Amino acid sequence: MSAAATPLMAQYREIKARHPNAILFFRMGDFYEMFYEDAEVAARALDLTLTSRNNGGAAEVPLAGVPVKAAPEYLRRLVQQGHRVAICEQMEDPKLAKGIVKRAVIETVTPGAAFADDLLDAARNTWLCAISGAADGAVEVGIAAVDLSTGELRLVRARRADAEAVLARLAPRELVVPTGAMGEAVAPLVAGVEALVTPREGWEFEPALATDALAQHFGVRSLEGFGIGPADDAAVGAAGALLRYLKELQPGGVPHLARPIVERPGGTMPLDEMTRRNLELVESLRASGDTTGTLLGVLDRTQTPMGARLLRQWILAPLTEVAAITARLDAVGALSGDGLARTALREALDGVRDIERLAGRTAALRATPRDLRALGDSLARLPAVRAAVPTPAAGVLAEVLAAWDDAAEVAAELQRTIVARPPLAYGEGETVAPGVDATLDELRAIADGGKDAIAALQAEERARTGIASLKVGYNRVFGYFIEITNANRDLVPADYQRRQTLTGAERYITPALKAFEEKVLNATERMETLERELVEGLRARVGAQVTRLQGIARRCAQLDVLAALAEVAAQEGYVRPVVDDAPGLEIVRGRHPVVERMMPRDQFVPNDVTFSPEARMIILTGPNMAGKSTILRQIGLLVLMAQMGSFVPASAARVGVMDRVFTRVGASDNLVRGQSTFMVEMAETSAILHTATSRSLVLLDEIGRGTATWDGLSIAWAVTEHLHDQVGCCTMFATHYHELTQLADRLSGVRNANVAVREVGEQILFLHRLQPGGADRSYGIEVGRLAGLPSPVIVRARELLRHLEQEQVAPPADGTPTTNPVADPSAAPVAARRVGRATGAPSATASDQFALFVATPDPATEALRARLSAVDPDTLTPMQALALLAELTAAAREGGRG
Ligand code: ADP
Ligand code: MG
Repeated sequence: MSAAATPLMAQYREIKARHPNAILFFRMGDFYEMFYEDAEVAARALDLTLTSRNNGGAAEVPLAGVPVKAAPEYLRRLVQQGHRVAICEQMEDPKLAKGIVKRAVIETVTPGAAFADDLLDAARNTWLCAISGAADGAVEVGIAAVDLSTGELRLVRARRADAEAVLARLAPRELVVPTGAMGEAVAPLVAGVEALVTPREGWEFEPALATDALAQHFGVRSLEGFGIGPADDAAVGAAGALLRYLKELQPGGVPHLARPIVERPGGTMPLDEMTRRNLELVESLRASGDTTGTLLGVLDRTQTPMGARLLRQWILAPLTEVAAITARLDAVGALSGDGLARTALREALDGVRDIERLAGRTAALRATPRDLRALGDSLARLPAVRAAVPTPAAGVLAEVLAAWDDAAEVAAELQRTIVARPPLAYGEGETVAPGVDATLDELRAIADGGKDAIAALQAEERARTGIASLKVGYNRVFGYFIEITNANRDLVPADYQRRQTLTGAERYITPALKAFEEKVLNATERMETLERELVEGLRARVGAQVTRLQGIARRCAQLDVLAALAEVAAQEGYVRPVVDDAPGLEIVRGRHPVVERMMPRDQFVPNDVTFSPEARMIILTGPNMAGKSTILRQIGLLVLMAQMGSFVPASAARVGVMDRVFTRVGASDNLVRGQSTFMVEMAETSAILHTATSRSLVLLDEIGRGTATWDGLSIAWAVTEHLHDQVGCCTMFATHYHELTQLADRLSGVRNANVAVREVGEQILFLHRLQPGGADRSYGIEVGRLAGLPSPVIVRARELLRHLEQEQVAPPADGTPTTNPVADPSAAPVAARRVGRATGAPSATASDQFALFVATPDPATEALRARLSAVDPDTLTPMQALALLAELTAAAREGGRG
C-alpha cells in the first residue's frame, strides 16, 4: 500500500479538507508533520528539510516535520510570515487506541488570533479586525477590532472617508472582509492595509444575526445595555463576523471578551496613514517597527506594557473635544507639578505586570501557575498605586479614582494559593502553597516520609550486606531499585530479586522497597493531579472576573500614561497648552520634540508660529536644509500632542482644536504599492482637498515636486488657492518654489515666511530661524556646493543661473487679489512664459505669455462648440446620436489639422 493510500493519510485528508487555508500541524507522536503543499510552504518558510513519506508504493507524499518541543518557535515564525496554522492533536493515547489514533484540530493560530507571549508584541495591541459597509453606498462603515490577548473588543463607526485612517491607526495583523457585493464596496478602503486578509461570506456580516450572536456571547438579552443601538449596525455586523470566525479558530470555545467599547465618529481625530507616517508618530520613516526617532519613542516613559499600548492608542487617536482634552491636561499638570507624587506613582506601577493580558489568558483558561501568581502579585500592588495618586485628584485622575478597585480578595487568594515561584510544570516542585488544601498537605507528608524511609532503607541495607557502595535509585521503567556493583555480587542477600543488568552493576528490588515505592508514587501522582485541580479551579474563578480585571488594567494603563506624559513634560521642559474652540493657533518658541533630542541640549532653534482666520496660510520658503520640513512637522506634532492631552515643547501655546491634521510630503516614495510617486502625491493631495474643513490643519511639504517644474508650480499654485478660498483651513506650505510667495499679494489670508540663512561670501549659514517674508531665491547652488559638487560645476552653474535670471520676465506687479487665473491672466506665475515657448507660441506680448491658462478661441473650436450646444440629447435616437458623434469627431479632426 502506498503512503498516500494508508488509513492515516485518509484521516489526514479528511481533516485537511476542513482547513484548506491553514498549514496543518498534524500530530504524530513527538512531531507535528506537514504533508503535500503545506510541507513545501513550511519547508521554504522555516528552512526545513523536505522529505517524503513512502512505504514502497508509487505515490510519494512530500513531508516536513517539526518536533513538538520546538513547535512554539516554528509556529511563531510561520505566523509572523502571515500564515495560518491549524494544530491537530492526537485525542487519545496511542497506546490505548484501537486502529488509527483519533485526531482533531484544537486551535488555529493566525496572525490576528494568537495568545502565546512570544507571538505578541507587549507594547502594542494585536488587532484582528473586520470591516463591514453596506453595498448601497452608505456613508458609514463599521469596523470591529478584537485583541484576543487582552480581550478588548472595539466597535468603531467611521465615515467611509475615514475608514482607511481608522484601519491605519489599528494596524491590524489580520483583516476579515466580506465577499460579494459588500466586499466590492469595502475593497477600495482596505487596499492599502498591510495585513493578512481573510475573506468571509457576506451573510456573516448580517447585523441581525450578529446582534443575536453577541448577545449570546455576553449573556445579555439585548445589546442596549452596552450602549449599542441600531445606528451601530455596520460595526455590530463586523463584530458578528469576527465572532463566527473566532469560533472556527477556537473550537474549544472563544475566550471571554470584555464588554464592547463603541467608538463613534466625532470624539477622536482620524489620522490617515500618510500623516501618521510623515509625522513619524509611532514608526520612523527609515526603519519600520522601531520607535526610535518617533513621537512615541520620545513620550514613552511608561512602566507597564498596558501603559505602553494605551500611549500608542492615545497618540494615534488625538481627541477633538475640549472638555476631554482638558481632563487629561489637568491630570498631566497635577503630576508634572508634583515630582514626589509622580515618582511614587511611577515606582508603584513599576512592579505591575501586564494585568490585561494575564487576565485575558486566565479567562481563556490558558494562564500557567506562574501567570496566576504574577497576576496576584500585580494586583497586590494596587493599593500602593492608588495611594500614590496626588489628591485632590484632578481631571482624568479623579475619574480613575472614582472607579478604583483593588480586587484585594482576588489578589489575596492568588497569592495565598500559589507559591511565590511556581515551577514550570506540575510535579517539578510545589505549585500550590502549603496550608491551602488539607489533603494535599497530607499527601506531601506521605511522599516526604516515603523518601525519608527510602534513605533509611539504604542505610539499613548497607549495614545488613556490608556493601558500602550499595545505593537506592529510581528510574521510570523499573521504579526504585537497589544497585550493587559487580565487585560485591557475592554479598547480595538471597531475598534480593534481580531486575536489570548493567555493565558494571546489577539492580535489585526487595518487597520492602516495592511497598515504599507504591506509597510514594501514589502520593506523588495524586499530589500532581490535586495541584492541577486546585490551580484550574482558581483559574476559572479568577477568569470569570475578567471584565473587572480588564477595568483595573485600563485604570493602571491610564495612570501609567498620564505619569509618563508628566515625566516627559518635566524632563524636557514642555508646557501646558491652552486648548480651546477658537480658530487658529499660536506657538511661542516651539520645538520639534524628536529633532531637538537628536542634538545637544539647547542647540535646537525654537520658532514662533501663528495661524488665525486672517492669516491662515503660510507659504514657507528657504533653501534646502534650512529647516522647513522640521518646522512644518513640529507644528503638526505640537497640535497632535496638545489634543492627545500632552504638554508641548514650547514656551507657550494655544491650540484651537483641529478636526483633522493632514501632512503630505511631495515626491515621497510609495514603491511598495507600485504607484508612481507623482500619482501618489496627487492622489494624497486630492484626498486632502476633498476632506479638509475650515477647522483642519494642512501641512504640505514640497507638493508638486514629482513632475516637471512648471507643471508642479502650477499645481502648487492652484492647490494653494483652493485651500485658501474654498476650504479656509490653516495651511503651511513649505516649498522651494519661491515664485509662490507672490500669492501673499493676491490672497488675503496668505503670509510669507522663510527660514533664515546668512550669506557669508559665497557660503551660506543655516540659522533655522523662521522670519516673515519670502525667500528671494533657492540657494540651490550654495547647497550643492556644501554637498561637495566640484567647483568647476559650481562656477558653471552660477554662470547659467545669472543668464537665466536675466532672461526671465518679472511678474506683473499690478495684481488685484483674485481667485481665478483664467479670468485674470496676470495671476499666473512667471513660469507660464516658458511654457508658452515650449509649445511653440510666440512670446512677444504680455497677453500671450499665458497661453496655457487662457483658452484662446479659434474659429474651428467655436464652430464645434456652437454645434454641440445646439444638440438636445433627450430627443436623439441611439442611431442619430452615433451619426452625430461620427460627424463631430470628423469635424474636430479637420479643425485640429487646420
Ligand atoms: P528643509 O526641509 O528646509 O530642507 P529640514 O527641515 O529637513 O530642512 O532640516 C534640515 C536639518 O536642519 C535637520 O535635519 C536638522 O538637523 C536641522 N534643523 C532644522 N531645524 C532646526 C532647528 N530649528 N534648530 C536646529 N537645527 C535644525
Ligand atoms: Mg524639506
